[in-house]
Amino acid sequence: DSLVDVQQVKKHFPIGGNQTLKAVDDISFSIQKGETLGLVGESGSGKSTLGRTIVGLEGATSGSITYKGKDVSTLGRKEARETNRTMQMIFQDPQASLNPRMKVMDIIAEGIDAHGLWKGKKRKERVFQLLERVGLQADHAKRYPHEFSGGQRQRIGIARALAVEPEFIVADEPISALDVSIQAQIVNLMEDLRQDSDLTYLFIAHDLGMVQHISDRIGVMYLGGMMELADSDQLFQETLHPYTQALLSANPVPDPAVTNSRERILLEGDPPSPVNPPSGCRFRTRCPHAMDICSEVVPEWKEQQAGHWVACHLYNE
Ligand code: SF4
Ligand code: MG
Repeated sequence: DSLVDVQQVKKHFPIGGNQTLKAVDDISFSIQKGETLGLVGESGSGKSTLGRTIVGLEGATSGSITYKGKDVSTLGRKEARETNRTMQMIFQDPQASLNPRMKVMDIIAEGIDAHGLWKGKKRKERVFQLLERVGLQADHAKRYPHEFSGGQRQRIGIARALAVEPEFIVADEPISALDVSIQAQIVNLMEDLRQDSDLTYLFIAHDLGMVQHISDRIGVMYLGGMMELADSDQLFQETLHPYTQALLSANPVPDPAVTNSRERILLEGDPPSPVNPPSGCRFRTRCPHAMDICSEVVPEWKEQQAGHWVACHLYNE
């Protein structure tokens, strides 16, 4: 039962001099209702842009995004507003995403006000409830963001996203800026909320370790493209794409049965620029298995085994 369906989506940014930054370049996948889909990739791989495009903060250059069975580009005004309410985003840096001049009450109520959901006493009560739900206290509502720790600020960001009763949340590296000791608390909170409130998450992270525990499935991006997507367990146990193999080898998995068989794969060089990605397979300049065909033909995005997608010529006959 897919909640979000992304088909051949591109997001290209003109950057002058007839050049184009291909931040997201022909990606197709769907997100099932109620799941947490982890999305990993190095910085600059396009994962934030993909997340922002799915929730409508960026318009897709081409391709289609279907939400609850409807193409979001064809919605009427009322439907678009409703879609806008039920898709929310949690940002990486709570410091930067919370207005420093606004009290927590008004930060959390921003969406409530924008969508005219509750007013006066109900609005206040709703904010108090949300604060408690994310592990803060009602009297925090009268304070300003700078009076909180990083972890508390992220709780405020989560409360703000939850305020409008969303169904789908894109969390863009919500724990990357936090102390390691706080990360698990935020992840656990998000997992509780998902279960209690029937949420669906796209959880963006730069490394696999961060999403491994909470994701039902994981997608791996490289230089604007999706390389592999599978059930979390399957991705770790039957890794198909050479890029995922390298990522995993750099990230020891706390399962000895899995790690024993893995040798560290060192990738040569830095990722090329998404302005001029390599022809054929975009990973070919760093791939230990690259063949002649890899520079000539873009590997097809294919369901290699049930639910296990990969874009790599090694698996095409
Ligand atoms: Fe490596 Fe070729 Fe597969 Fe790309 S298509 S990952 S270059 S083997
Ligand atoms: Mg990012």
